[in-house]
Amino acid sequence: MDPCSLTAVQIARAVKARELTAVAVWEAFEARIRRFNPTLNAFLHVNPQAAAEAAAIDARVAAGEDPGPLAGVPVAVKDNIVTCGMPTTCASRILEGWVSPYDATVVKNLRAAGAVIAGKTNLDEFAMGGSNENSAFGPVRNPWDPRAVPGGSSGGSAAAVAARLVPLALGSDTGGSVRQPASFCHLHGLKPTYGRVSRHGLVAFASSLDQIGPLTRTADDAALLHGVLAGHDPHDATSLRPDQLPSPPAPDGPLRVGVVREFLAEGLDPGVREVVEAALAKWKAAGATLVDVSLPSAGFGIAIYYLLATSEASSNLSRYDGVRYAFRAADARNLEDLYSRTRGQGFGAEVKRRILLGTYALSAGWYDAYYRKAQQVRTLIRREVAAAFETCDVLAGPTVPTPPFALGALIDDPLSMYLSDMYAVVANLAGVPALSVPAGFTRAEGMTADGVGAIPTLPVGLQVMARPGHEETLFAFARGQEALAPELGGRVAPDPEEVSR
Ligand code: GLN
Repeated sequence: MDPCSLTAVQIARAVKARELTAVAVWEAFEARIRRFNPTLNAFLHVNPQAAAEAAAIDARVAAGEDPGPLAGVPVAVKDNIVTCGMPTTCASRILEGWVSPYDATVVKNLRAAGAVIAGKTNLDEFAMGGSNENSAFGPVRNPWDPRAVPGGSSGGSAAAVAARLVPLALGSDTGGSVRQPASFCHLHGLKPTYGRVSRHGLVAFASSLDQIGPLTRTADDAALLHGVLAGHDPHDATSLRPDQLPSPPAPDGPLRVGVVREFLAEGLDPGVREVVEAALAKWKAAGATLVDVSLPSAGFGIAIYYLLATSEASSNLSRYDGVRYAFRAADARNLEDLYSRTRGQGFGAEVKRRILLGTYALSAGWYDAYYRKAQQVRTLIRREVAAAFETCDVLAGPTVPTPPFALGALIDDPLSMYLSDMYAVVANLAGVPALSVPAGFTRAEGMTADGVGAIPTLPVGLQVMARPGHEETLFAFARGQEALAPELGGRVAPDPEEVSR
């Protein structure tokens, strides 16, 4: 039995049943990491303690204990989630060499569930980006085609799971960063309800939008990992208790699927449209009710996301000043010079762009025109989403308007890059849970950038949103999608060296 072809559910069961040792599982995945990470660049750091952690799990099983629902399962952690004893860089020079003195709550939860921490994965610097090309430590390649981006900002986590370097990974999603890479890498990726998963130890980007979520190859694995991550945490003031955020079961009977009109309008790649419409047709044939719904303000989503997220980021990132944390520029003449040199040298171009945009949006004289107006539109979107759920159980559409694009194709075109999340940001702004599920594959004919047309088959994701707290409904949809398209579940990315270039 090759552990790398198993799901997390299967690995945990086999480890508990003593059919596999956690050490053997880790050795198998570590061998794949060593072999394929030089091509993919998905991991920034492999946990040197992982083998010892696996041995400790085996010892507990041998002693008759139950190590937990993730017994012996290696889990990769996006490198903007802090881990005690391992670096946390946020893929930024400004944090290079910094080691957190504590574990994020989600990492504590993973350890308590018997998981083995595999290491830290690459991302766009401070989670700002949609292609993983903004990393200070180099881009990540998409295992489905190494010429394409894996998406971002959780690109390392997505590539690692898609290439079976780990069965599970954590991402963070502020405006699509779990779901867009899930769509690009043929994975399940969940952005939970705001307040469902603790943000304690997640390096803050835009605190009113950030959530941590799983990237997995199956629906059951997504539900399993989310179950371990979710829960109230007194260390996060926005974390909700079960009485504030109940977790109702999925509805009985056929789902009412709201098809968001604005998500199938202009700007959608024809190949993506074809895959998504075919998937929805299957749901209809299987007895689901398709409901036509409209979110009239969704079209403002990207504009207001980039006002609110940059405003929050400009405040959150003020702590990297050369005094605390890792990097400090040399030869500063005075304190102000230290700040400007450290930040000038330590941050990459996209992070600087965001800090400038956010500082401008918040500045006196512009606050009412930009930040306050964006908050008002956010309220409209929230209300429209709530109203749409009066007629349906989930809201469905494409996760991303395009298939994965070629490395370099959009790097000089921030606006096109930003539009990649035009459907995804709605869930962050509304605070509702959203899941991207694998929907099929397409050719890249809709893309115009040079070289992209040569890429043969690229993953396409379908996004479903649900009411706050209704993650179970999303998992029910994901299981339904697996049953409707069983051929998709069997497809795994080719080993990178086997891809012809
Ligand atoms: N791609 C979006 C951005 O660049 C979303 C990022 C995220 O969700 N962390 O802001």
